[in-house]
Amino acid sequence: MVPLVYHPTYNITAFGFERLHPFDGRKYKRIHAALIARGLRRAGDFIRPRAATRTDLLRLHTPGYLQSLRQSIVLARILEVPQVRRFPAWAINWRILRPMRYATGGTILACRLALEHGVAVNLSGGYHHASADRGGGFCVYADVPLAVKTLRDEGKIGAVLVVDLDAHQGNGTAAAFRNWPWAKMLDLYEEDIYPVPKEPVDFPLAVGPGLTGSDYIGMVVDALIDALDAVRPDLVVYNAGSDPFIDDPLASFRLTRSDLAERDLLVVSLVRERSIPVAMVLSGGYSGESWRIHTDAIEDILVRFDKAS
Ligand SMILES: [Zn+2]
Repeated sequence: MVPLVYHPTYNITAFGFERLHPFDGRKYKRIHAALIARGLRRAGDFIRPRAATRTDLLRLHTPGYLQSLRQSIVLARILEVPQVRRFPAWAINWRILRPMRYATGGTILACRLALEHGVAVNLSGGYHHASADRGGGFCVYADVPLAVKTLRDEGKIGAVLVVDLDAHQGNGTAAAFRNWPWAKMLDLYEEDIYPVPKEPVDFPLAVGPGLTGSDYIGMVVDALIDALDAVRPDLVVYNAGSDPFIDDPLASFRLTRSDLAERDLLVVSLVRERSIPVAMVLSGGYSGESWRIHTDAIEDILVRFDKAS
């Protein structure tokens, strides 16, 4: 069975947060519940991560950055919710940062499980605007760079390729990778939306608004094959953001739910055809349909890969 990593603490339900930011902080539990309701998993089948500890975080993040997260004003900027300035920092830590530390632990665990099972999915993660000394765009901890650095330091992987198909550029991941010749990134993003400025990446696909599913998927296939041939990675981390969806309020791509499920299955299949392990994380997605898009995609991946994993 494909390991699915999930912890109930992933869900962010603080302070009426869901009314202050378009991100659905409960989407993780919705996906978890839907996978059970569809008969794909039982509650006991999910693998619970531990939260990333300060020692874990210091493998990537600077002490000064972690220290700055004790200030509500810094967190308000990173989370893009000005009202957060009025909340005490200890409460933000407990209700928002703690879930994100579980999500970060989940990405580390999913990468480990991918090496053992071929495919693994963290039902959160992909906070790709965070880097070693900076957060932004709702991203506090750079879970993917942290996970791959951990495995690299342990001698478990050589080269790694991150495939970032969230509609926004993964500028934090790219910044973290800048001085790591062993870590490469393929990033298909909309060029006229957040973040500004963009960060240089190894395999950039910067596109304008309005891209449809067939054009998009054609670009992904060509670029992914080229990147896999060039990098020959020991692990792929797939940042499967659902915000290229046609009704997403923060991006202008025009992919349907079925296009996104096709995309995710295609990426995982192309990587697995080469016997390369792949860990998938969910990343952004701001429509009310985001949880359903991910559930559909994960269902297709389980149907295809459960027997082989
Ligand atoms: Zn995004």
